[in-house]
Amino acid sequence: MLEIVDGHYGHGTFALDISLAAKSGELIAVLGPSGAGKSTLLNILAGFETMQKGHIIVDGRDVSLQPPSRRPVSMVFQDNNVFPHLTLWQNVALGLAPNLELNNTQRLKVDAALARVGLGALASRKPGNVSGGERQRVALARVLVRPTKVLLLDEPFAALDPGLRQNMLALVKEITRERALATLLVSHQPTEIRDAADAIVFIADGQVYPAETPDAFFASPGHAAVAAYLGKTSR
Ligand code: ADP
Repeated sequence: MLEIVDGHYGHGTFALDISLAAKSGELIAVLGPSGAGKSTLLNILAGFETMQKGHIIVDGRDVSLQPPSRRPVSMVFQDNNVFPHLTLWQNVALGLAPNLELNNTQRLKVDAALARVGLGALASRKPGNVSGGERQRVALARVLVRPTKVLLLDEPFAALDPGLRQNMLALVKEITRERALATLLVSHQPTEIRDAADAIVFIADGQVYPAETPDAFFASPGHAAVAAYLGKTSR
């Protein structure tokens, strides 16, 4: 379970009030207009930005004051997830040991994570010699070797073609269930995440609106900001 209780974040003229609750095993799509604060929300959870008020609770523990590296939180971006000079295997191993000195148990863990995302046969390749989708799978495999409870994805698949995006979404959903993660995925393609998401969190006008089911969100926009947002995106 992931919660943000009574949160407030401000930076210059930008302000965001945040209350949020996500269950373990749940894939939540984070939607909203550009500049609304979607990336900011993820950065707050990861610990790269700090709220002036409020608490972040993961499985009953307040992690608000923990530095990013100590939080049970992993973040996957659209780019920059892999180091080009390392093999896929080494890129995943980094999640366990920055010096790449792994014991046998850790090595097996890396092998298993690569196999889980379908990259077992490509383990010794460099990122430049695999596809964009496969590079994103490396980032997911790295999440699997870490003791993560919260998975944050900031438009991770935007550069992939639509079919591949659906494959990756399905994989993220499976991993979310298997690992009982609370997963937040920022997307600019609301129609594409509609089927995969368990809930939708909408951000606009300095607020994080309470989570809704995708059906409720798309069927009857509860407020003007959602209607305006959906009106601008293809349904
Ligand atoms: P979204 O992800 O929904 O597009 P962001 O979280 O990136 O929105 O941005 C929220 C607000 O913070 C916007 O007003 C944006 O202009 C501002 N902002 C984002 N990044 C920075 C930054 N590095 N420095 C200053 N302001 C920023």
